[in-house]
Amino acid sequence: MAELIDLRSDTVTKPTAEMRKAMAAAEVGDDVYGEDPTMRRLEAIAAEKIGKEAAMFVPSGTMGNQVAAMTHLQRGDEVILEAESHIFYYEVGGLALLSGVQTRTIQGRKGFMEPAQIAAAIRPDDLHFPRTGLLCLENTHNRAGGAVLTAEQTRVMAQVAHERGIPVHLDGARIFNAAIALGTDVRELTAPVDSVMFCLSKGLGAPVGSLVAGRKDFIDKARKVRKLLGGGLRQSGILAAAGIVALEQMVDRLVEDHVNARLLAEGLANIPGLTIDPDAFPTNILICSVAKLGISAQRFSALLAQHGVLANPTSPTEIRFVTHKDVTKTQIKSALNIINQIVKAIDQF
Ligand SMILES: *Cc1c(COP(=O)(O)O)cnc(C)c1O
Repeated sequence: MAELIDLRSDTVTKPTAEMRKAMAAAEVGDDVYGEDPTMRRLEAIAAEKIGKEAAMFVPSGTMGNQVAAMTHLQRGDEVILEAESHIFYYEVGGLALLSGVQTRTIQGRKGFMEPAQIAAAIRPDDLHFPRTGLLCLENTHNRAGGAVLTAEQTRVMAQVAHERGIPVHLDGARIFNAAIALGTDVRELTAPVDSVMFCLSKGLGAPVGSLVAGRKDFIDKARKVRKLLGGGLRQSGILAAAGIVALEQMVDRLVEDHVNARLLAEGLANIPGLTIDPDAFPTNILICSVAKLGISAQRFSALLAQHGVLANPTSPTEIRFVTHKDVTKTQIKSALNIINQIVKAIDQF
């Protein structure tokens, strides 16, 4: 079989040669003692780039979000978050299990929750009610197809919470994709929030790692929570070295992934039986409906896999394609050819 074209996720990206070189050469120490110079450098660079006082490395985005939540919250609190958000949808019920809180979801539109909806969800002071302890936002919004929140949208949502003394956490796993798509400095997107998590291991190509950033006192507190969860790492400068390369060399090229996603979306839109609006996907995530084909997304995904194109179903009728640095424009074109042939061979529609 021909080479695999892996469009399942940008998490499949492999570290670059530069990263491997930097990892091999990294100066290291025991980071639990705060003695790993490469990790210190990554955290300083990350804080500066993301526009916060301090940053802390975590092994995964999920741990980053959960550590941030645990740092903000008290047991018994209620957290407001978008109904399709990663923290609600894909983090194994961590808010309930680890923070001991309950969730209050709001159906947003492309990740945006109307300020009035947020205001209505915030609990007044009442003997019967839990305390609203946190508002979570997500940019780009994964299940909304890489949808982008502007700085202004972020500001108006955060303001409603802040007016009531409630902190705001941003799940910014792909925040640099948002900044690139908007053509704004990422710091404008993070300025309205108290804490932000972003991933080095997705489009930026590092093998492992995410960062949590916020005020220095918040990060000091978060370090203890990270230790509690088993996320205190030792010679983690090996990983930080790759992260530094990711932040310094891999951000600007994300635009190529967006261009490839656009090419893929336009190609898919031209295939009869597939439904996708190319204008609806501003970054590197596409969601395409196969409803008209008369087969399930699961089945369609299996057919693609047989022909070397990997993409995950995200609902019974929808399949998700994610572009990234390890898929070239040429591969996007061959994926389109393969998909076209598979669709032609299905004659139910
Ligand atoms: C991938 C992702 C995460 C979690 O990152 P992991 O490193 O896979 O744990 C969190 N939020 C969003 C929006 C993501 O896409």
